[in-house]
Amino acid sequence: MRQWKGMHWQRNGLHVNMAVRIIYINDTTLRDGEQAPGVSFSELEKIQITEELLQIGVHEIEVGIAQTLIWEKRFLTYLQRSEYRDRYGIWCRANREDIEKALSLGLGTIHISVPVSDFQLGHMGYSPQWVLDTLEKCIEFVYQHADQISIGAQDATRGNRAFLLEMMSLLNSYNVSRLRFSDTVGIGIPSSIASLANFLSHHFCGELDFHGHNDLGMATANCVSAVENGVTQLSTTVNGIGERAGNAPLEQVAVAVAMGMERDTHIRLPGLQHLCEAVSMITERPIAPDKPIVGANVFTHESGVHCHGQTKHSLMYQPFSAETVGRTSKMVIGKHSGSTTVREVFAQMGVDVSRTTARNLLKHAHTNAMKIDTSNLLSLLTTSAHQNN
Ligand SMILES: [Zn+2]
Repeated sequence: MRQWKGMHWQRNGLHVNMAVRIIYINDTTLRDGEQAPGVSFSELEKIQITEELLQIGVHEIEVGIAQTLIWEKRFLTYLQRSEYRDRYGIWCRANREDIEKALSLGLGTIHISVPVSDFQLGHMGYSPQWVLDTLEKCIEFVYQHADQISIGAQDATRGNRAFLLEMMSLLNSYNVSRLRFSDTVGIGIPSSIASLANFLSHHFCGELDFHGHNDLGMATANCVSAVENGVTQLSTTVNGIGERAGNAPLEQVAVAVAMGMERDTHIRLPGLQHLCEAVSMITERPIAPDKPIVGANVFTHESGVHCHGQTKHSLMYQPFSAETVGRTSKMVIGKHSGSTTVREVFAQMGVDVSRTTARNLLKHAHTNAMKIDTSNLLSLLTTSAHQNN
């Protein structure tokens, strides 16, 4: 059992400094992401996404469901020949058939998911004792053939804690090294995830992995809350694709943990844009312009106050530099622009205008109810230059 000792977890006599521990990203774009309505990856697309995820530094990739993965021969051959075989995980139901299929592939983690809420158990017709007995058989079977195992507590946010305690006691007795707890229906909020993560981290001896859905728009915040309460692995998908409102988005979680919490994820943040655009193209789901981190406009400034501030310091109205995530910030001329913006944008185009000229252009455009943008102000400038000649 581990105990909280100030900044350290004390476990098995080892002190682990939480301040320097890596937060690992386990991406499930290829499994849970593909469960998004209308999303279906070809085998070549799966290979492309796997390559991109490895390049960016994702710790583990959930490559699919045992039941269907065995039919994707080309993708499987690629995975089996990869030097990163140990970093691929396979999702299984708690039955011998799925586990045998997963083991036969010779890849990394065998993930076994079981429902843990009374609600799901009742409607699926399983008893809590059935879950414990089945898990025990599954774990023993996996350990005869492999040692990388992860157990998934599905619907944990609606789970009953007495049962979770029993389940953790079983997992601890088998030295299971990873427990994923899922906010399967996305009902968690940061405080409830904090409470649950804290409870689990004080009773489970291995690593905790949080899998959050975004039904309340809380998935990223819930990941942060989970990490604040002892979780060391996070389950994400690129662009947050997934069932219903999707999963915790990899790009947001990686940046929130790195920039907001100052914790290392090993994710190369400047590569996020390329990865998200690639998955956006493959899934034919455009990235909204205001989507955090990767949206086209999230480093674009238009209003006079903000642009004026940005000319004094690049972080005046930004949380971090655009370059951190492989972007560049820019200014655009619009309805709320002031003379500073006009001069800056024109200067970037090699057009030098005085502050008075910039003000006059804006005044003219406002007075005549013109749409204020770069092209209109440039034509105004050209026209007034001709009239003055
Ligand atoms: Zn899920």
